[in-house]
Amino acid sequence: MNFSHACDHDVIVAGAGPAGLAAAALCAEQGLRVGLITGPADPFEKRHDPRTIALMRPSVRLLQHLELFEPLKEVSNPLRKLRLVDDTGSLFSAPAVTFNAADAGWDAFGWNVPLQDLTPALAQKAQALGVEFIRDSASGVAHERQRSVRVQLQSGGEVSAPVVLAADGRASRIRESAGFIMLRHDYEQVALGCFFSHSADHDDMSTEYHKPRQGAFTTVPMPGRRSSLVWMMRPQAAEEIMALPERELARRMQVESHGDLGRIHDVTPPRAFPMTTSIAHDFAKERIVLIGEAAHAVPPIGAQGLNMSLRDAALAAELIGDAFAFGDDFGAESIMHDYDRIRRRDIFPRKAAIHVVNTALLTDFLPYQAIRAGAITLAARVPMIRDIIMRQGLAPADEHLPRIMREDAAQEAA
Ligand SMILES: Cc1cc2nc3c(=O)[nH]c(=O)nc-3n(C[C@H](O)[C@H](O)[C@H](O)COP(=O)(O)OP(=O)(O)OC[C@H]3O[C@@H](n4cnc5c(N)ncnc54)[C@H](O)[C@@H]3O)c2cc1C
Repeated sequence: MNFSHACDHDVIVAGAGPAGLAAAALCAEQGLRVGLITGPADPFEKRHDPRTIALMRPSVRLLQHLELFEPLKEVSNPLRKLRLVDDTGSLFSAPAVTFNAADAGWDAFGWNVPLQDLTPALAQKAQALGVEFIRDSASGVAHERQRSVRVQLQSGGEVSAPVVLAADGRASRIRESAGFIMLRHDYEQVALGCFFSHSADHDDMSTEYHKPRQGAFTTVPMPGRRSSLVWMMRPQAAEEIMALPERELARRMQVESHGDLGRIHDVTPPRAFPMTTSIAHDFAKERIVLIGEAAHAVPPIGAQGLNMSLRDAALAAELIGDAFAFGDDFGAESIMHDYDRIRRRDIFPRKAAIHVVNTALLTDFLPYQAIRAGAITLAARVPMIRDIIMRQGLAPADEHLPRIMREDAAQEAA
């Protein structure tokens, strides 16, 4: 039975960020007719973005599946060690802990990929797989006799499909128009992002320094003696930092990182990203599936954001692709239900852990600080706990991943 008979596409994806592009490419490679509403930005254009994305092993497998990993490798760096340093000076301080990928029998936890290279690479792949790029913005949705969804475009036209993937970011128009309920929390905090050079080797290690009342200061290795920085702080402190001349900024960064990376220089102008958490009450309903930051936006702690989003994209494409292959309705309520159920058990615990760590850094409330320090101390002292965090804290266990992200899928492909 043809479930798209009155529609111009099988799947509409709104939003050409990395999550939407990955979902569009993965649907198109299964033979679905995919229309991608790009929104205001051109995804093919390489524009400077100070964010690098620590992609964990399942996300790297997704890139390998799309044959994008090798071309991106030369601008990316492996993550072989992850270190947490407690700089809070709190009554409940924890010892430094280093997670080593080799201890888990892995070459690396993942790779750190610049977003400015990842997005155009995904766009080119999606285009090569036959995704139709619709250079417009979505302004709203309407349901067509419960069998399809019409997406209105800002230019005045509309497109339709049995299922719509809303990947149009934190302020998703599709999500708002469809009436999804969001739970929101504003941390009154921003994350500054920039790239910088340093005189000492980073040793393929990312270090997260926990700072009192401000948040985490995290260095992430890039090729050569270069790193990216994610520096979380109160908005007023960010204004002061952003006004510093480059040399003064470099000096501050060197002090905050205890000189671990040697002399810091060539700092690119920092950009501020506001830190709010927003999380949907439902991740899918009535033929609309929320993907990426349209579904969940969290502070950049523990490199979870886009890793979760790529799992959204891979699962949506898997469920829709399977239904399409079996001749079933790929916008059916059962698919919405499965997507919601599976994504919920991945996203909610991670969002809760990020919230506890971040809140413990922002507050003087001792019980919160004790929980954070206690968890890090356990990780430092008990190898079994460290192993569990390495294997499940960074990403779900293999059996809970979409098929293309599993270890055995990578071995089959090799
Ligand atoms: C400093 C920093 C460091 C980070 N580091 C990491 C990390 O190490 N690891 C990690 O996993 N995550 C990290 N993240 C999170 C990660 O950057 C984001 O989760 C990710 O970039 C969001 O991708 P997205 O595709 O969901 O949304 P976006 O990139 O926001 O894409 C949304 C797209 O929708 C488009 N759009 C907007 N409105 C419309 C409309 N009406 N119609 C159609 N399209 C529309 C936009 O133009 C955009 O292209 C970090 C974030 C920050 C701030």
